[in-house]
Amino acid sequence: MDLILTQPRGFCAGVVRAIDVVEQALARHGAPVYVLHEIVHNPHVLEDLRAKGAIFVEDLEQVPAGAVTIFSAHGVARAVVGRAGQRKLRVIDATCPLVTKVHRQARRFHRQGYEVIIVGHAGHVEVEGTCGQLEDRVHVVGTVAEVARLDIDRSARVAYVTQTTLSLDDTRDVITALERRFPGIEGPGVDNICYATQNRQTAVRNLAPRLDLLLVVGARNSSNSNRLREVGAQGGVRSHLIEHAGQLDPAWLEGISAIGVTAGASTPERLVQEVVSRLREYGVSHVEEMDGEREDIVFPLPAPVRPAVPGASLPGKV
Ligand code: SF4
Repeated sequence: MDLILTQPRGFCAGVVRAIDVVEQALARHGAPVYVLHEIVHNPHVLEDLRAKGAIFVEDLEQVPAGAVTIFSAHGVARAVVGRAGQRKLRVIDATCPLVTKVHRQARRFHRQGYEVIIVGHAGHVEVEGTCGQLEDRVHVVGTVAEVARLDIDRSARVAYVTQTTLSLDDTRDVITALERRFPGIEGPGVDNICYATQNRQTAVRNLAPRLDLLLVVGARNSSNSNRLREVGAQGGVRSHLIEHAGQLDPAWLEGISAIGVTAGASTPERLVQEVVSRLREYGVSHVEEMDGEREDIVFPLPAPVRPAVPGASLPGKV
């Protein structure tokens, strides 16, 4: 059996930055530091950071007054920022800059008087944060069917933004449905879907015709990992999402000759390499890396944990 690793895969710039923020906060302030929501959606990353002294909470009220508090890469509602200020929490915001860009866009549309539609998964923490930028005139749609059910007056001015980790193809379909229902609607097309999500999906789409099986290494609650599995399936490949090598089922490998492995933007490379080792034990004899987009994007750290001299090494880093 041959194994092809997609390029790119795994950590994006927003995830690297968010993990760095927690590590730098621990190095500067000592344990514990509190993190509102999972800093990124991967249980292995959370376990590592917990061992270093991070405490993950789902509600700001669980954080002791005055404590160092980090907002996750997915962003938070404005009410959360306000509440953190009232409670005098020392906030460090690890929201990915590409999510912040969507927040700004949503606020701009709202200021201009638009009804704002967020294309995304209702209940996902990023969508909650984007909704929470606006006091009213905000709606969430996840599917073409939901577009028909939107409760918006025909005479209203309508605009949309999208979640950053959606499927490109599904989002295009939802946008087309929005444009049919609201001629003149304004929005960014699929440009809110971040470079990392787009590149990982494109790599899977390009590789799919060569594969009999696709394994996506990523967490169950990771939006972009789930979308990678869907892109593989839409490309005609049997596709499974696994969190770690222990979830590999040898029965999946019967009678196949080419396996692809990719990883969501919050999946450490270590977990991918453990899957590769397990596949070698199961009979993979050849491993290659596909030729794909090389990413060199780096997001600067937020001011409270930025090194004083640009380029200087950070405390706790070698
Ligand atoms: Fe930012 Fe995209 Fe990574 Fe999310 S997946 S943290 S939006 S770069």
